[in-house]
Amino acid sequence: CGIVGVNGLNNATSVLVNGLKKLEYRGYDSAGIYVNEQNGKDHLVKAQGKIINLENKITDNVQGSVGIGHTRWATHGIPSVENAHPHFSQDDRFYLVHNGVIENYLELKETYLKGVHFESETDTEVVVQLIDKFSNDGLSTPDAFHKTISLLKNSSYAFILMDREQPDILYVAKNKSPLLIGLGSDFNVVCSDALAMLDVTDLFLELHDKEVVTVTKNDVKIENENGEQITREPFKVNIDP
Ligand code: GLU
Repeated sequence: CGIVGVNGLNNATSVLVNGLKKLEYRGYDSAGIYVNEQNGKDHLVKAQGKIINLENKITDNVQGSVGIGHTRWATHGIPSVENAHPHFSQDDRFYLVHNGVIENYLELKETYLKGVHFESETDTEVVVQLIDKFSNDGLSTPDAFHKTISLLKNSSYAFILMDREQPDILYVAKNKSPLLIGLGSDFNVVCSDALAMLDVTDLFLELHDKEVVTVTKNDVKIENENGEQITREPFKVNIDP
């Protein structure tokens, strides 16, 4: 299972797919991408099985400069196209990829999401529907993301969230699952393992558990659990020639 994200590269689709291939070693049963063109057009493609099945479904028009990708190792719900990530909210506004397990997803679903239409059997979909619910209640997207994360009990996660109404931002968070930010000039990327993005950068920022990170193409803002801004030096990964 693995996660990738790209913000600010015109060939986002191929960077995401190549990144997912580099993460194949982690094991997976399905894969998917969501790419936004930032002109009102966006694309969601998911497939069961190998990444080649996903590639076969990606037509030439699936282009964009911002996007997220995922390889899934099913924990809740069988391997299928519907259960593959990215998952989206019932109004198609929010898109989320997730590695890990949300232990209290059933309780959250019963408490907050009565009457919501679900497309999948995953624990992950509860998270994206919750973000949408809190957004509809009046919270900004980062506040809805923060609030949702604060409700996750004993859970492990690496998340990248996209909001169709702000398609130039990736919202990122992790707890007990690996996730890094890769830094570029006029672009930034996100990945479970630096290996996935070494073709585009060798400069990475480590993330700590429960931080929430806002990634645009030329800025990375890290906040801790208490909403305080954190500064951290990047590290360089040496690539063998
Ligand atoms: N628990 C999630 C699911 O079953 C994510 C699994 C993963 O880490 O790939 O869809």
